This record gives sequence, C-alpha cells and structure tokens, in this order.
Amino acid sequence: MDLGIAGKRAVVCASSKGLGRGCAMALAEAGVDLVLNARGAEALEKTAEDIRSRHNVNVTAVDADITTEEGRAKVLDAAGTVDILVNNAGGPPPGFWTDWEREDFIKALDANMLTPIALMKALLPGMIEKGWGRVVNITSASVRSPIAQLGLSNSARAGLTGYVAGTARQVAKHGVTINNLLPGLHDTDRAVSLAEAAAKREGITVEQATKARDGANPTGRIGLASEFGATCAFMCSTHAGFMVGQNILLDGGAFNSTT
Ligand code: NAP
Repeated sequence: MDLGIAGKRAVVCASSKGLGRGCAMALAEAGVDLVLNARGAEALEKTAEDIRSRHNVNVTAVDADITTEEGRAKVLDAAGTVDILVNNAGGPPPGFWTDWEREDFIKALDANMLTPIALMKALLPGMIEKGWGRVVNITSASVRSPIAQLGLSNSARAGLTGYVAGTARQVAKHGVTINNLLPGLHDTDRAVSLAEAAAKREGITVEQATKARDGANPTGRIGLASEFGATCAFMCSTHAGFMVGQNILLDGGAFNSTT
C-alpha cells in the first residue's frame, strides 16, 4: 500500500534505538524526510546513517535531551515546519507507591506528558496552516491496564492521554490527526534487561525467563519494533485521516478484554 506521505517531513523523538527507531525506519521506507533525536550522539548517527543507506530520504540527527527546554529548542530549530510528529522519550523508573515524592512525579510529568504537549503546541500551528498533519504519541499499554510498579508512568501517560482526547477533537477539522500508540512488550533493550532481571529474581536462566515471558502472550512472542513502526507509519499516512484521538493497543492480545 502506498502510504501517500513520500516527501513529507517528520520529527521522530527518542529514535536512535527501540520503538522510536522502528517508527523512523518505517516512515523512511514510506519516503518521509526525518529529523531524528536522542541524547547519545554516537548511536543516533549510526541509526541516521543506517536509514540513509537503506532509503532515499534526508535525515537530520539532533543529539539533545528532548525532556529539557534547551533540547526541545534544538530539535525544533533543526525541524522547521513539519508534517508529522512522533513523540517519544524514555519511561520513568519502577518502584512502589510509597517511594514517589513530588519531585519524582514532576520529572515523570515533564518527560512523558509535558514534553509531548510542548512539542505539539510548537508544531501543530504549522500543520493547521498547511491543512494537513499527523501526531503519534508513543505511550504504553499501561494506559489501558496499569502496571503497578510503573506508577509514575501510569500517572504521566494518563495525563497525556486526557490532553490528547480533547485536543485531537479541536484540530481534526484542519486535517490534523493526533493519536496514541500503546506498546505492550516489544523486542527493545528494555525487554532484554527485564528478562535478565526476572531470571535473577527467580533463580532461572535468561532463556527460561524469556520462554516464560513469551508463553504468557497469546501470540507466544513479544512484538517487533518493525511491526510497531509499520503501525505508526500507517497512522501517519493519508489513509488514516478519520482516525482521531484513538489509543491503539499493540500488545499481541495480552490485555484480556472483550472490547
Ligand atoms: P529504548 O529501546 O530504551 O530506546 C529509547 C530511545 O529513546 C533511545 O534511542 C534513547 O537514546 C532515546 N531517549 C531516551 N530518553 C531520551 C531523552 N530524554 N531525550 C532524547 N532521547 C531519549 O526504549 P523503547 O523500549 O523503545 O521504549 C520507548 C518508550 O516506549 C518508553 O517510554 C517506554 O517506557 C515505552 N514502552 C516500551 C515498551 C517496550 O516493550 N519496549 C512497552 C511499553 C512502553 P538515548 O538514551 O541516547 O537518549
């Protein structure tokens, strides 16, 4: 399927690795010019080069912490006017409800709620002026089904979800869509470290922990960053203009629910 977005320009935040990289790769395959971002310059440049070598698109790499005002200014400066924004950043650390103080919440809200909101506020006017735009926020399956030890993430992402629900309906008449993409467990560095931690905790091998983890999902596996990226690219396509304010869960059916 031709996604109809060749020649458009996208900012993909936090995209040197993992899900952000998967989204960047899929958009590049659809012919979209990219502004990539991550803190670590080396891995970022490696991903940028990898994309340039596979796809005939322009790729600008901006090393910056997207959760800071300076970092966002650097990315926005390099971006100019864009058609597509994919919001992403690292998730907050796990813990127990008694651990978290006001500063911990402020940090999580800054990273996973206020950063995507600030980038939308900066880039939506240009999209509205052009009469076309796409925003996809990478959130988490925890928006549908809470992960107790990720209370900071549950809270910040719920806040973003509420913001998107209203804002998406305010900008839709300008041809601009905002939706959220909710990952269940995917094959990124995080999945490897979670399996290692589970193996240590339960006194089993990493292979055993990985097999148990995969077996717990209806598909018998975890998701691929490439599958996640392809879904994101479809949500950014010309075909997805009637998808507004949705929370698209990609978890292999792990969330047990009839609707
Ligand atoms: P990942 O593999 O660890 O990759 C994270 C990417 O984000 C890296 O490129 C990293 O590069 C960049 N990054 C992190 N913090 C950043 C910041 N402050 N500014 C700019 N770039 C930053 O992570 P992932 O698994 O793809 O997860 C992406 C998001 O999805 C996270 O919020 C995570 O909580 C959420 N999520 C993931 C899963 C999953 O199974 N993978 C499931 C549910 C939710 P640098 O470190 O160099 O900055």
